[in-house]
Amino acid sequence: MKRVKTLPFIVSSQPTKVDIRCCGCKSLINSDQLRLGVREYKSSSWFHYVCFWTNCYYRNHLRGVVGNTLAELVDGFSGIPPSDKSRLLTDASSAPSIGRRKSGSKLEIPYEGSEADGDYELDDNTFDLTNLVCCTVTKVQTNLHVSIRKYFVPRGRTCAKPTKYGISLNCEQWNKLELQVDDINSAIATTQKTLKEKEKEKDKKDCKDKNKLPGKEEFPDWILFSLSWKRRVGVFASGEEVVVDIREFSEEKTFSESDRGIRLKPDQWKQLQENINNINKSLRKLS
Ligand SMILES: [Zn+2]
Repeated sequence: MKRVKTLPFIVSSQPTKVDIRCCGCKSLINSDQLRLGVREYKSSSWFHYVCFWTNCYYRNHLRGVVGNTLAELVDGFSGIPPSDKSRLLTDASSAPSIGRRKSGSKLEIPYEGSEADGDYELDDNTFDLTNLVCCTVTKVQTNLHVSIRKYFVPRGRTCAKPTKYGISLNCEQWNKLELQVDDINSAIATTQKTLKEKEKEKDKKDCKDKNKLPGKEEFPDWILFSLSWKRRVGVFASGEEVVVDIREFSEEKTFSESDRGIRLKPDQWKQLQENINNINKSLRKLS
C-alpha cells in the first residue's frame, strides 16, 4: 500500500498570486524567486532561499543531505529548474556549520564555506551580518574602529577574511549611527510605504497602457543621515528592497557617493542592530 507522506520541507520557484513574506528577514519574496520553506500543519513557513540557510531554525536538517534523500525531504524538488536543483544539492550536501555542531560528530574536515549559507567562522570581535558581510571591531594603534565590510572565505579554509570593500567608522561615527537607528528605521518604513504605493500605481498604469514598459529608475529618492561631514547613511529603495547604505561622499565630485562604503540589505541591517550591544562590548574590551 502506498502511503501519502507529507514531506517536511518545500521548495518552489513557481509564481504566486498572493504575497509571501520571508520568515527570516520579514520582507516580501518575489513571486518567481526560488524559495525554501518548512511544512507546517496545513501551511508552510517560507524563506528566501538565502534566508533559509542563515535564519531557518531547521536549516541543519537539510545539511549533509545528498541526491535522492533530498527529494524525499523536500516537496517540489523535482519541479524546480535544473540550475536551482543543483544549487540546492550543493548547499544541502555541505556540512553543517562548524561552530554549532554538537561534539562527538565525526566531520572535522575543512570545507569551503559558500557565500550564501553563513558557514564560516569569525573571530570574537567580528559579527556576522549574513551573506559574508561582517562587522568587526579593530584597534589600530590607539584608535578603535567599527568596520563593516564584505568578507570572503579563502579556498580550503573555514575562517572568513575581510575584503577591501566596505567602510571603517571611527567611534564618533559609530555612535552617531547608533543614535540614529530609530530614525533610520522610520525612514525605512516610509520608503517601504512609498514603494508599495508606487507599485500599486504602476499596476494600475500597466493595466491602462500595456504597451508601455515600466521605467527602470523609479525610486531615486534617498533619505540621508549624516555621520560626519563626508559620511552619510542613505536609505532608499533598490529593486523591491529598502537598503541602508553607509558611505563616504567625495568632496571633489560635489558630494556624490564614492566607492568607499557598504550597502546593507534588510537582513544585514537587522543583524547589525541586533549586534549593537556586542559591538559596544567589544569596543569596551579593546579600549
Ligand atoms: Zn528573507
